[in-house]
Amino acid sequence: MSLTASAPLADLGIKTATIHLNPGVDDLYAHATRLGEGVQAACGPLTVRTNKTGRSPKDRFIVEDDLTRDKVWWGGFNTPISGAVFDRLLDKMTRYAEGKELFVQQVYAGTDPRYRIGCRMVTEMAYHSLFIHNMFVRPTPAELADFHEDWTVLNIPSFRADPTLDGVRSDTFIIMNFTRRMIIAGGTQYAGENKKGIFGVLNFLLPDQGVMPMHCSANVGDDGDVALFFGLSGTGKTTLSADPSRHLIGDDEHGWTDSGIFNFEGGCYAKVIKLNPEAEPDIYRTTRTYGTVLENVVLDAGGQPDLNDGSLTENTRSAYPISQIPNVQPGSLGGHPRNVVFLTADAFGVLPPISRLSAEQTMYQFISGFTAKIPGTEDGVTEPSPTFSTCFGAPFMPRHPGEYARLLAQKVQDSGARVWLVNTGWTGGMYGTGQRMSIAHTRRLIHAALSGELDGATFEREPHFGLEIPTDVQGIPAGVLNPRDAWADPQAYDETARKLARMFRENFRRFEDGVDPAVTASMPDPDAAPQG
Ligand code: ATP
Ligand code: MN
Repeated sequence: MSLTASAPLADLGIKTATIHLNPGVDDLYAHATRLGEGVQAACGPLTVRTNKTGRSPKDRFIVEDDLTRDKVWWGGFNTPISGAVFDRLLDKMTRYAEGKELFVQQVYAGTDPRYRIGCRMVTEMAYHSLFIHNMFVRPTPAELADFHEDWTVLNIPSFRADPTLDGVRSDTFIIMNFTRRMIIAGGTQYAGENKKGIFGVLNFLLPDQGVMPMHCSANVGDDGDVALFFGLSGTGKTTLSADPSRHLIGDDEHGWTDSGIFNFEGGCYAKVIKLNPEAEPDIYRTTRTYGTVLENVVLDAGGQPDLNDGSLTENTRSAYPISQIPNVQPGSLGGHPRNVVFLTADAFGVLPPISRLSAEQTMYQFISGFTAKIPGTEDGVTEPSPTFSTCFGAPFMPRHPGEYARLLAQKVQDSGARVWLVNTGWTGGMYGTGQRMSIAHTRRLIHAALSGELDGATFEREPHFGLEIPTDVQGIPAGVLNPRDAWADPQAYDETARKLARMFRENFRRFEDGVDPAVTASMPDPDAAPQG
């Protein structure tokens, strides 16, 4: 273990804290259990509980300064805050940290040396330090000897802001400061904030270098064909990128440069609720491996993870270094994508299991960023609720969606990549009547798209969204490919399709001014004559 004086944090004004610099896995297990953060499950993983079980997007701020003022798309998830508020909170935090224990990891965000940033990740919790060790790109000993820190993250969950004095919304805050190249966070133990904070930084910085930052997973076939999978939370980025027949590049955050794809991360963060060991063997294995962090997974009486137990949250997670997945792509780099897949978990059961998108539909779907949540537990709510999150990741994208959409369109055009919309959600009816698409069918359809099998297929045009649906795919039973055929009641399908088309149009109004008229013209048409 490397114990040093506070010198590594002297620039922050922290003088008397005990600093653990770049501790390894064994040490972090020891610290986390000593500090009462969690326990080791019988099969190996460090298992922890957190006060918040998801991100806190409403408590995320960006300091408004000369660097951000004209480049950030303010409003929505991008809430401005003053540099003075940041400075005061940082000052309070550093005084709070005096005399405490802190963990520091020096890691990279980005596997491409041209674009990576060196991150100094300072955390109060040992388990966050292990999470960061697993999830970021670990420097080689030579790189570590000469490590350049571009950004600092200071994350102290037990530090609570006072909203009446500190200029923030609650006791929780995540604030990005581009001038000082720092993120400070307090109030939340959810480890995902560490990685999504730096994701936001790269999403802001990279477009100026001509790099498209993306909320997507990526893998590559034996002949070098790269595929990207965009999608909001729960749509299948992690699940579908871990494909035994392809090499994993990464499961969540990537950049597209003039030479291809690079991962921002060195690990994966998989949802593990009710994970099926047969359908997802690779991810399942990580939940029984030493070194993994299991967040909010309940242990049974024998000390083994019970993945069916959602009593703490449905958002149970496994965080593991990418090397735990067999068949990874060395270096987490790939060439230009041959296929781009937009994943959506449509709980309305309207969108086809797979369809092919035109260039205009690509822009339209990317800017819309649709998925649908199943109804919650509130009384009387029986219908799914639509989520439109632009760029399939609104909470992480500081710039105007049009900027990202134009970059993507250019990259897709230059590379000639095919673009597909894949519904991993409901079929045969909306949530309640229908059922979730089988993972086996989704995988088969994706393989058909990636292998070029669909290039020679016959397509029919679905009227409301104008989507091109293959009429026949080997291994997929009849009546699955066209969602209208999958519903017992075709009229009910038409009505739901019209309703969803109206929701798309309503959402897109705020973007119409900023996009090419051809994109707007590709909008869904609720008044189209139904099929059949
Ligand atoms: P996040 O951004 O939160 O990491 P994600 O896009 O990576 O989300 P996954 O973690 O892959 O999403 O979650 C998809 C979930 O849906 C998994 O629990 C998976 O088992 C389940 N699932 C059910 N049916 C399908 C399907 N047909 N395709 C993909 N996933 C499915
Ligand atoms: Mn994921």
